[in-house]
Amino acid sequence: MREIQNKGDQNKGTKGMAPALRSQGQKLCPVFGVCGGCQLLGMSYEEQLARKKEQLKKLLKGICPIEGMLGMKDPFHYRNKVHAVFDRDRRGNIISGIYQESSHRVVHVERCLIEDEKSDEIIGTIRGMLKSFKIRTYDEDTGFGLLRHVLVRRAFATGEIMVVLVTASPVFPSKNHFIKALREYHPEITTVVQNINGRGTSMVLGDKEHVLFGKGYIEDVLCGCRFRISSRSFYQVNPTQTEVLYKKAMEYAGLTGKETVVDAYCGIGTIGLVAAGNAGRVIGVELNPDAVRDAVHNAKLNQIKNARFYCNDAGRFLTQMAAQGEKVDVVMMDPPRSGSTEEFMRAAAKTGAEKIVYISCNPETLARDLRFMKKLGYKAVKGVGVDMFCETEHVECVVLMSKVKE
Ligand code: SAH
Repeated sequence: MREIQNKGDQNKGTKGMAPALRSQGQKLCPVFGVCGGCQLLGMSYEEQLARKKEQLKKLLKGICPIEGMLGMKDPFHYRNKVHAVFDRDRRGNIISGIYQESSHRVVHVERCLIEDEKSDEIIGTIRGMLKSFKIRTYDEDTGFGLLRHVLVRRAFATGEIMVVLVTASPVFPSKNHFIKALREYHPEITTVVQNINGRGTSMVLGDKEHVLFGKGYIEDVLCGCRFRISSRSFYQVNPTQTEVLYKKAMEYAGLTGKETVVDAYCGIGTIGLVAAGNAGRVIGVELNPDAVRDAVHNAKLNQIKNARFYCNDAGRFLTQMAAQGEKVDVVMMDPPRSGSTEEFMRAAAKTGAEKIVYISCNPETLARDLRFMKKLGYKAVKGVGVDMFCETEHVECVVLMSKVKE
């Protein structure tokens, strides 16, 4: 029972916010300031873009000039992945939504302004079905109950939808009837996966999975390539802006068809495979084995023969490449929020790369890494923000570095 208990909690996320912004945000969304998600909801979209651009400029001042912040036409319902945690409120009603920021309290969410509407609808249907199927929600305190989370991923380009039911144990009574009934409500669902997470962890997904219906993955199209996405692989949450981001990354890379390109932190291979048509060869590296499997499959799916993918730590892998004297022309890197490592960056420099294209979802670690790259002889030439996370304070950008000629 971790739902919001009192009114005091509800104002936590709006503390220090201008009253006009707070009331505008609250008008737009009933859980504004409670869920902690859309920190900028009360602000006009133009203001949001201007603010993010300034933030980026400030953080990268004296390190990298910023060309702008590319926004969306319609900054709502852009998220193709919706995650809902299931619980009960004090009256015993089933609720689903998100954890309140840095807590284990569940904020009930019916509809969300940035999430895909169809996915929210499916989660609502599942919530409504649990009682008649006698499926209990999991209680983190007692360890009783079955359903922990539901994850819905929708491929906007193909319409394919994956539903992942995260359960505390593998035993899922009357699962076939449940899936059948769910598909009657939503025939557009193309695959259903059961993921088992029996651990007391903040991770949503566990290691074991069963495909209950369909192929167990979905396919989406980005920049003219088709990609298989499985439940545990990373995939950008805003596909419309991902195309904008990747196009900028390709423009910055300026490939001519001959280059050896490294796609580091490659996920399911999206950047490398989009680059492959204009490169001599592509080498992708990624830590998550499911994502690497998707990447290898995706190369075949797109008949791309000049790309190889490896499951390894990016730093360790590139260090080995550099030690073997392998030469690289362009490094494209897209690390997680924590940024890259000195090991990786040293190795990138050692491969002799003329250009490094750095995609970042955290300008603070980006600034740190650009400073380090400067010491290694790389100048940040230009950068541009791409608003991937509209209504939220998260900032994404891409930066071009080039090797300073001695
Ligand atoms: N470029 C991809 C994925 C970017 S997200 C895309 O645009 O979709 C960052 C990726 O880095 C994730 O897939 C994560 O699994 C991977 N990752 C995290 N730490 C890593 C490491 N040390 N070495 C290699 N990959 C790593």
